[in-house]
Amino acid sequence: MDFRYPPDAEVFRAAVRAWLAANLPAELRGVTVRDDLTPELVERLRAWNRTLADAGYAGMSWPKEYGGRAASVIEQVVLTEEMSRAEAPGPINVIGLSNIAPAIMTYGTAAQRSRFLRPMLRGDEIWCQGFSEPNAGSDLASITTRAVRDGDHFVVNGQKVWNTLGEYADWCELLVRTNAGAAKHEGISCLLVDLRTPGIVIRPIVTITGGREFAELFFEDVRVPASALLGPLDGGWKVAMATLSHERAGVASLHLQVRKRVARLIEDARATVVDGAPVTADPMKRRELARAYMLAEHMKFLADRALSASVLGRPPGPEGSLAKLVWSDTENAIAATAGRVLGPAANSGRWGEQRVYVRATSIAGGTTQVNRNIIAARVLGLPRSRTPRSSPPRRTPRLLVGAGFIPARGGFAATDSCGRGQAPPLRAEDGRASRAGR
Ligand SMILES: Cc1cc2nc3c(=O)[nH]c(=O)nc-3n(C[C@H](O)[C@H](O)[C@H](O)COP(=O)(O)OP(=O)(O)OC[C@H]3O[C@@H](n4cnc5c(N)ncnc54)[C@H](O)[C@@H]3O)c2cc1C
Repeated sequence: MDFRYPPDAEVFRAAVRAWLAANLPAELRGVTVRDDLTPELVERLRAWNRTLADAGYAGMSWPKEYGGRAASVIEQVVLTEEMSRAEAPGPINVIGLSNIAPAIMTYGTAAQRSRFLRPMLRGDEIWCQGFSEPNAGSDLASITTRAVRDGDHFVVNGQKVWNTLGEYADWCELLVRTNAGAAKHEGISCLLVDLRTPGIVIRPIVTITGGREFAELFFEDVRVPASALLGPLDGGWKVAMATLSHERAGVASLHLQVRKRVARLIEDARATVVDGAPVTADPMKRRELARAYMLAEHMKFLADRALSASVLGRPPGPEGSLAKLVWSDTENAIAATAGRVLGPAANSGRWGEQRVYVRATSIAGGTTQVNRNIIAARVLGLPRSRTPRSSPPRRTPRLLVGAGFIPARGGFAATDSCGRGQAPPLRAEDGRASRAGR
C-alpha cells in the first residue's frame, strides 16, 4: 500500500501551512469548544470562523455556489491535518457547517438557501441542533415538542436538551411533532427557528468538567413563521437523516486527536516519577502504553482505508460505520490507561478532566450500544434481536452519526449518560433569560 498523498495534495498542504502560520492568532492556538466558553471567547472564535471562511477553509466540501470549494476528501483531510498540527480551532459554527447545512442544501427552498447558508458559513449566525428531548435520545422519533399550525405561523411548545452551543446559537434546526395522529416517524417536521423569538428560554447546562457548551431550550407558545418549515410538512424524519452527516473527511481525521493524546500520555508517563523512578521503568506500564499506542495507530489505518477508497473512487466501506465506535472505545481505553499508568497523577489536571469527559464520546452521535446494534444489522448482516412479548416496545436506533457529533474537532462535553432530566417549569427568570428583544 502506498501511504503517500498525491502531489497536488502536498501542494495544497504547503499553501495551508503557510496560511495558518500567517493568520492563526497566537491566543487561539490550542483552543477548542471544550474549553470554558465565554462570550468573549465565542466572539474571538466567531472572528476566526470568518477568517477561515473568507480564505475558503470553512465548508471546504460545500458546493461553490454556496461559498464552498467543492474540495476533494483528500484536501479536506489535509486541511484537518494541518489545522491539528498548528493547533488551530476549527470553525465555531461546526454543527451548522457539517450537520445542518447539508439538510438546508437538500431540502431548503431557494429563499432558505440564500438566506441562511452564507451567514452560516462565516459563523455570523451560529446554529444549534434541537433534536434530543428528555425522553427522546436514541429513540429520536419519540419527540413530543409539538408545533400546531395557526394561520401563517406554527405555535411551538416543548423542551429540547443537550443542545451543543445552544447558549450562543442564533438559530436552531428544530424537530417538532406536527401530526400526533400519524405513525411515530411520519408526524415529524423540521423548523428553522430564530432563537430570539419570544417564548424561548435558553438555560445553559454546566457539565461535570465545568464546560458550558450545552443548553436546554424551552418553548412556550413560540410563534414561528410557516416559511421556517424545512422540507415537507410531516416529512421531517428525512430532513433529520440528511442532517446527520457522514463525511469521509471526518472519519479520516478522527485519529489525529487520538494519536496526539497517546503521544502526550507517553510524555507524561516519562515525566511521572514514583519511588524515585519514572513510571515507564515498569515493564507492565510500558506494555499498557504500547497497547494504547497500537489502538491509536489502528485508527489511523481505518482512516487510511476510508481515504484510499475515496481517492480510488471505491464505494464507502464499513469504515464510516465503525469509526465512531472504534474512536469512542479507543478514547475510553486511553483514559483508562492514563489512570492505571500515571496513578494519582491522573486524578487532576488534563488527565483528570479527560477521564471524566471521555464518557461523552460513547453517548454523543449515537450511543455505543445503539451503534453496536446498527453495525450488527447493517455491516455484519446479523438478524435483528427479537423482543420478548413481555418487554416494553423496542426503541428505534438512531443513525450512527447523530446530534452533536463533531468528528473533526472532538468538541464534546462530558455529561451524564442519560439526558432524562425532568422538565423544569418554564420560567423566564430561570437560567439564561429568554432571548426576546436581545
Ligand atoms: C457531547 C454531546 C453533544 C450532544 N449534542 C447534541 C445536540 O447538539 N443536539 C441534540 O439534539 N442532542 C445532542 N446530544 C444528545 C445525544 O444525541 C443523546 O444524548 C444521545 O442520542 C443519547 O440519548 P439519551 O441521552 O436520551 O440516552 P438514551 O437514548 O436514553 O440511552 C440511555 C442508555 O440506553 C441505551 N439504549 C438506548 N436504546 C437502546 C437500544 N435500542 N439498544 C441498546 N441500548 C440502548 C443507550 O446506549 C444508553 O446507554 C449530545 C450529547 C452529547 C453527549
